[in-house]
Amino acid sequence: MSVCVSASPTPRNEVTTASQSNDLWPHAISGAVSLTFDDGLASQIAHALPLLDSCEIKGTFYVNPGRGEWASRSSRWRQAGESGHEIGNHTTRHPCSCNFRFDIDYCLEHLTLDDLAATIDDAERQLDELLPVQTGKRSFCYPCYQSDVGAGRSRRSYVPLVADRFRAARGGGERPNDPLLVDLSYLSAESVEGQPAERMISYIERGVAEGRWAILCMHGIGGEHLSIEVDAFERVLQHLHRNRQRIWTGTVIEVADHILVKRKDLGTRESEGVKE
Ligand SMILES: [Zn+2]
Repeated sequence: MSVCVSASPTPRNEVTTASQSNDLWPHAISGAVSLTFDDGLASQIAHALPLLDSCEIKGTFYVNPGRGEWASRSSRWRQAGESGHEIGNHTTRHPCSCNFRFDIDYCLEHLTLDDLAATIDDAERQLDELLPVQTGKRSFCYPCYQSDVGAGRSRRSYVPLVADRFRAARGGGERPNDPLLVDLSYLSAESVEGQPAERMISYIERGVAEGRWAILCMHGIGGEHLSIEVDAFERVLQHLHRNRQRIWTGTVIEVADHILVKRKDLGTRESEGVKE
């Protein structure tokens, strides 16, 4: 049974947050939200996808083609992508700082920009093959929110390399994104592990009240690493569904593409130098 089926929209006169009217969002919308899920986890397939579908909300799933349990899960990701969820690029090898000790032979301080290009392009090739309908229509997610290679004086950002390939990329950082000003090549996202529903909803509402784009970063749903409870996730979905007339919940690429069009219309400085 749907967790959202009985929820009717909150009447507009009961909306407590001040609506920041701006020309950036679609009609009557005060702010945007994206729900993102990293690492292609089993609990996302078991819990997140069915709950999102029952609430008619689309999520963005950042997967690592070829890594871990990819082979047994890829057909489910294809199906999710074909039904409108975004299946985004999270590299094939998930490089993070050596300090994490995930793989001390393949970690950011020891890697080059070419190494990063290789793992990103390899993931992109596999995703194009799996889900051609999303070719050129997916965003990127920085593993471990980190965006540099090398160390010390030879440390370099790989953001430009990502910006050459994608119109939008998600990193980490607590502040919801200002649609006019944010660098779409490194979007902030709140990591919500362990959070109760109230805290996630309050983060969303604070962002929406300022006319911003709040992105939640999730990993396990009801289990696995950095998880949140299924019940908390359901309550966030119910809130978004109930308030869908004023909060736009879209995938990262959908919201980014909307912002790009609006920036171009407005002729902002931020609309220049962006991948078309
Ligand atoms: Zn990750």
